[in-house]
Amino acid sequence: MKIVYSPQYDIGFFGLERLHPFDSRKYSRAWRCLKRELGSRLRDLHVKPEQPVSRDELLRVHSAKYLEQLRQPNCVAAALELPIVAKLPNFVINRCILRPMRWGTKGSILAVREAIKNGVAVNLSGGYHHAKADQGEGFCIYADIALAVDAARREGLISQDARVAYIDTDAHQGNGVCHTLIDDRRVFIFDIYNHTCYPCYDYVAQDRVDCHVRVNSSHTSGEYMTALREGLPGFLDSVTRTQPVELAIYNAGTDVYEGDALGGLNVKAEHILERDLFVVDQLRQRDIPVAMLLSGGYSGESYKHVFASVRGMSEWYGS
Ligand SMILES: [Zn+2]
Repeated sequence: MKIVYSPQYDIGFFGLERLHPFDSRKYSRAWRCLKRELGSRLRDLHVKPEQPVSRDELLRVHSAKYLEQLRQPNCVAAALELPIVAKLPNFVINRCILRPMRWGTKGSILAVREAIKNGVAVNLSGGYHHAKADQGEGFCIYADIALAVDAARREGLISQDARVAYIDTDAHQGNGVCHTLIDDRRVFIFDIYNHTCYPCYDYVAQDRVDCHVRVNSSHTSGEYMTALREGLPGFLDSVTRTQPVELAIYNAGTDVYEGDALGGLNVKAEHILERDLFVVDQLRQRDIPVAMLLSGGYSGESYKHVFASVRGMSEWYGS
């Protein structure tokens, strides 16, 4: 197992980031917990990105027009749902918000590479599953998941016709991934999400999902886990039946937590850990390499859930 992390991941702009419910420093917080817990062992697991994703890499999925639009503060403010960002100068937005996300995007690309080499990898950032080729939304700017799949194919790490499984347990439906990969039928999508909250009216995205599990605030934490346990194995069996799956990307949002401001679900902390270990185990039982990405998490507790899951995975897969 490998853990991809850079100190460049944290997002911060003069404390204004606190106006958003997203804990934009959860990356370094989770990292520090892992450092305390794993000590020198972490050195063997750590992979550090050397640079952020380049413009040329981004152009593999995004249009030049969209990358140009990101120079307009209004455009970034809308994607982040944080109007105060529209008042910031372009260079501050680039340095304090977009650049950390480009580091996070590079981390997702590296996590996929490491997963294929080592079986399991985690990027302590990324999972921007609402970003589309021509539009950012829902706090997501760069389509790191589509970029990581593209890089794996381009580098020959998986074959051109390889099947890829995308598993999304973030509370929100991963509409950006669906739009970006709408015609790429080599990628099979499993999504368990709260169907009553954003982006609930994106029916084009929902039509692209191969296996839905719809949950809402009436589900108890145990019922959420039952729905996942009933849905995921059958999906993986059907996708692997006629052709092997060469890669899985697991988008493990912690905004399913009962204390989360935006997820609208009731999942307890111990079930987030159980969920993540279950998903990764289901993939490893089928010999599918898996790269886990953090995605959403809008409570002050989010980094603790990430830490617990990555610690659990390091106990199972860390040697
Ligand atoms: Zn979310």
